[in-house]
Amino acid sequence: MLIDKHVTVIGGGIGGLAAALACARHGAQVTVLEQAPEIVEVGAGLQISPNGWVVLQALGLADDVAAHATCGQAVRLRDFRRGAEVFSMQLHAPFHFVHRADLIDTLHRGALDAGVQIRLGVSVTQVEAQENAVRLTLADETEEVHAFVLAADGLHSAARRHLNPRSKPFFTGQVAWRALVSTEPLAPEAHVFMGPGRHLVRYPLRGGALSNIVAVEERDSWATEDWARTDDPRNLRAAFTDFCPEVRDLLAEVEAPGIWGLFRHPVAQRWHNGPLALLGDAAHPTLPFLAQGANMALEDAWVLAECLAGVPDEGQALHRYQDLRKSRTARIVEAANSNAANYHLRPGPYRAAAHTALRVAARIAPHSVTNRFNWLYNHDVTGG
Ligand SMILES: Cc1cc2nc3c(=O)[nH]c(=O)nc-3n(C[C@H](O)[C@H](O)[C@H](O)COP(=O)(O)OP(=O)(O)OC[C@H]3O[C@@H](n4cnc5c(N)ncnc54)[C@H](O)[C@@H]3O)c2cc1C
Repeated sequence: MLIDKHVTVIGGGIGGLAAALACARHGAQVTVLEQAPEIVEVGAGLQISPNGWVVLQALGLADDVAAHATCGQAVRLRDFRRGAEVFSMQLHAPFHFVHRADLIDTLHRGALDAGVQIRLGVSVTQVEAQENAVRLTLADETEEVHAFVLAADGLHSAARRHLNPRSKPFFTGQVAWRALVSTEPLAPEAHVFMGPGRHLVRYPLRGGALSNIVAVEERDSWATEDWARTDDPRNLRAAFTDFCPEVRDLLAEVEAPGIWGLFRHPVAQRWHNGPLALLGDAAHPTLPFLAQGANMALEDAWVLAECLAGVPDEGQALHRYQDLRKSRTARIVEAANSNAANYHLRPGPYRAAAHTALRVAARIAPHSVTNRFNWLYNHDVTGG
């Protein structure tokens, strides 16, 4: 039961704020601990697919997010060199292209309105679940004991380390640049330019006035200790110099792209222990090639709060939560991994055959490919 229960959430990202809000709506007294001095997001886009959107609807936030979002209609896969279309697919509705800052802002305001307390500048370095409480060590070396903790502290989660001590983040062999550029209004579509060992995705944000760019390149190693930093735009342009003029013109506008080494863990074996549970990237970081990380975090947040509200025994509630989430998130992470391989095929017979198969499928059975994703997009954790 959540009524009057004290819930501490580590991390004020998409997963943490959504979980805080969902628990508060069930009557819990929620506090979020966020390491950053303020709740902000990087300037970049997010694709929120129907399975994540239903959670925003159930939380009463969908209209607010939709006011700044672009309703995506289609995704077009294109060859890198000439830009020729290989395949296009109508997107399952409702599919939205959202600025991350707009989503975070809406979740933040929703959480505050529901009475959630947010403590900023609080970095949790160590987590230890005990039988009836969770001990947190903070960066200033103070310790705090909390009755019940949900850890939404992302890829480098201290709680995940405690629950799954042998698993460490590993470099996936991919880096991603992200940038926003002002453009002429674009059609409400995502375009994926597929090249050997690289791909670039662009889609419109905020009514088409901005174009969101995610450009991915395979690399043997990620040398810096930071997992994210700003790069010289000339490096980005050089990596895509053999792409079609449309891509090169877009990249010519980029000024200070962010660059991320893409790291992940396997999906956590253990999602909870005593009064501690994981959600979002802390439990199942994914490659972004199916655009599902934030969507899964929203699903987790909803399911976790429903289990805690509906199952009287806390341990059984968390067990049910893990049961409901683990295999679905593992399947999604696996599907995202396959997309990486499919987008980055090298020129040669295999790439030619794969693209021909897609072109034929597009002509004779366009819905068969769309329907292959029904398991993903038509899944409604809110039961609506
Ligand atoms: C290039 C790229 C494109 C993507 N595109 C999409 C997309 O289109 N659609 C989609 O669904 N997903 C996408 N994702 C994935 C998505 O961004 C993540 O999966 C999602 O943000 C995870 O949310 P989270 O709340 O679990 O974790 P995070 O967003 O990582 O949030 C964690 C929060 O915890 C805080 N924190 C961390 N450590 C501590 C600590 N020690 N103490 C206190 N606070 C802490 C952080 O400051 C942060 O606020 C993309 C990812 C990348 C890299």
